[in-house]
Amino acid sequence: MAQTISYDDFVRMLRCAAAQIRANHEHLSQLDSVGGDGDHGTTMVRAMGCLEKAVDADTSAQVPALLQNVGWAIMGVDGGATGPLLGTLFSSMSDAANQVLDAAGIAAAFEAGLAGVQRQTKAQLGDKTMIDALVPAVGALRKAADDGLAVGPALQCAAEAAAAGAASTVTLQARFGRARNIKEQSIGTQDPGATSISLIFKGF
Ligand code: ADP
Ligand code: MG
Repeated sequence: MAQTISYDDFVRMLRCAAAQIRANHEHLSQLDSVGGDGDHGTTMVRAMGCLEKAVDADTSAQVPALLQNVGWAIMGVDGGATGPLLGTLFSSMSDAANQVLDAAGIAAAFEAGLAGVQRQTKAQLGDKTMIDALVPAVGALRKAADDGLAVGPALQCAAEAAAAGAASTVTLQARFGRARNIKEQSIGTQDPGATSISLIFKGF
């Protein structure tokens, strides 16, 4: 991938993220069945179906409009915590996204997306939620951009940080979402939402 990405690149990124989720949805539901209600994989597949529909229907050829449309589509997915939070990530990214994005632009867009998510939830790093993958991924993007990396390597760094963040949730106790109800029994299982974020960045 080059120094900058355009609308078409973003479309490809979104489709690859959806493919990653689809390929792993059974695992996601299995993780959610430990402390939650076992629906995370199917909810994420529905969310990615809405994402793809929004991508297909988008005639704007504008990155900010694409992200806004994708965000709204995902927000409409029923089935708990995931739709509103993930939808907010994409729609808030559109606030800072430009039509052509370099690594710094991508970092700024994801920072805006994370800020939007953090307006929706009080979950902090260490609470065993999607935040545990999202915060390190966005931090890694910012560092990569500051280090002068191109977009491709910067996204690679973000994917590695998201995977490490998701893995870090195994030893944590859930303090948000349904899994908080099982208290210390949530320790030992990777958080499904953090795993989804990690898969999305892997797809990107
Ligand atoms: P639900 O728990 O409503 O069935 P899902 O199973 O789709 O929703 O998603 C569960 C995931 O959502 C959790 O693994 C966690 O990462 C994330 N999550 C749930 N509640 C919150 C919250 N309040 N803040 C941040 N993330 C949350
Ligand atoms: Mg669930």
